[in-house]
Amino acid sequence: MKTLSLLFLFLISATCKETKTVYVCNSEGAKKYHYKSSCRGLSNCQYKILETTLDKAKKDGKTLCGWEK
Ligand SMILES: [Zn+2]
Repeated sequence: MKTLSLLFLFLISATCKETKTVYVCNSEGAKKYHYKSSCRGLSNCQYKILETTLDKAKKDGKTLCGWEK
């Protein structure tokens, strides 16, 4: 029973992947999203760093930062 509920939790977290928190720079030219707020790609950000979700960042046309591949 315990194994079963662990598997259930695993499946839930897998399907929730698209709502993962990512970070974007709040500037007009920013086209990237970042998994970590401490990413070196964000250290150049002169504006505010915004927390958003992966799904929303993709809808805004943002792509994964080159430092995080
Ligand atoms: Zn990055």
